[in-house]
Amino acid sequence: MADDPKAHGVATRLSHAGRAGTHVHGFVNPAVHRGSTVLFPNVAARKEGAKHRFEQFMTYGTQGGPTHYAFEDVIAEIEGGTRCLVVGTGLAAVAVPLLAYLKAGDHCLMPDNAYGPARNLCEGLLKGFGIATTYYDPTVDEGAMAALIQPNTKVVYTESPGSHTFEVQDIPAIARAAHARGAKVLMDNTWGIHHFMPFQHGVDVSIQALTKYVGGHSDILLGSVTVNDEADWQVVRAAGSQLGQFASPDDVWLALRGVRTMLVRLKRQEASGIEVAKWLETQPQVLRVLHPALPSHPQHEIFKRDFTGACSLFGLVLQPHYTPEDAARFIDSLQLFGIGASWGGFESLAIPTTGHITRTAGTGDFGGPMVRIHIGLEEPADLIADLTQGLAKLG
Ligand SMILES: *Cc1c(COP(=O)(O)O)cnc(C)c1O
Repeated sequence: MADDPKAHGVATRLSHAGRAGTHVHGFVNPAVHRGSTVLFPNVAARKEGAKHRFEQFMTYGTQGGPTHYAFEDVIAEIEGGTRCLVVGTGLAAVAVPLLAYLKAGDHCLMPDNAYGPARNLCEGLLKGFGIATTYYDPTVDEGAMAALIQPNTKVVYTESPGSHTFEVQDIPAIARAAHARGAKVLMDNTWGIHHFMPFQHGVDVSIQALTKYVGGHSDILLGSVTVNDEADWQVVRAAGSQLGQFASPDDVWLALRGVRTMLVRLKRQEASGIEVAKWLETQPQVLRVLHPALPSHPQHEIFKRDFTGACSLFGLVLQPHYTPEDAARFIDSLQLFGIGASWGGFESLAIPTTGHITRTAGTGDFGGPMVRIHIGLEEPADLIADLTQGLAKLG
């Protein structure tokens, strides 16, 4: 059993995956290989190299190098896939597979709570290319999803839990409906990271914004597209190539450094996030807390069935009599929470979400002004004390 690397726990695999660096004079980590030109010993070798351009084979800078390959192996390992393409941002990781699997005349289904810029792509470039998108209630069951799929639906996009409102999707049910009708299932798995194994639940292409917990230090932007099937790899890799997608080896190196300690950070942030979320639930100013790991969450049973843990990003709904201006006052009064986008770093953040999100399938009303909270690596007691004084300002 110990001989089978897949039999090891995720923490062990994360520590050992992608260790090509050990082949370089014994150093544990790969170097940062920057480069455009790759030299060949002769013309024949160059011709041969071109045949392997979809493999981990260095033919030109845009095909990646040792730093990329080591890191891609780690991300594929985390998600239980076979191949991973690392790209410059999480949004690029959303765009590459959408552009790869959709063409003029096709139809895409996207959950109403999808990451805003993914929606912008559907309403912008994709619409211009003659690709229509329908936004669906993320909590659909298999029958409802089947009814949404049209003969030209080629992509069923998913994101679970979804941005800002954290509905958990029944991915296996959605995947059954999609596959029965010949559509590909794409998933933004940024929230789940290693807690949701996409390919075991029917996903064909998994997207991650590595900018978040993988980077973990709010200092890089990076994304990944991971697949578990050679045919999907060819489609995704070809699209990435045609679009000139590339990630800086310096950022990849930082992410490789970040990912080695991710599980420790995440465990701590998960526990702190749940502690703060549970405390918030008991506060009179709070109507609801939108956190999939809490029993009060409407899809908590699906979460328990499909996820092995949570990250530290969740939502907070204030009582209905408060206004968005009250929510802003609450956020402004916090001392330990930064006001800014992104998440997954070591520092806590809070942003208002009411009025900042677009919904067209009627899934946006949660009863009061909403705030998105990211819990960092600070002491939970200090964060709770800060939130206490902030909520007190609301009266
Ligand atoms: C942040 C985010 C992205 C995009 O990542 P960037 O690296 O910032 O482009 C994609 N999906 C989700 C769910 C995100 O939160």
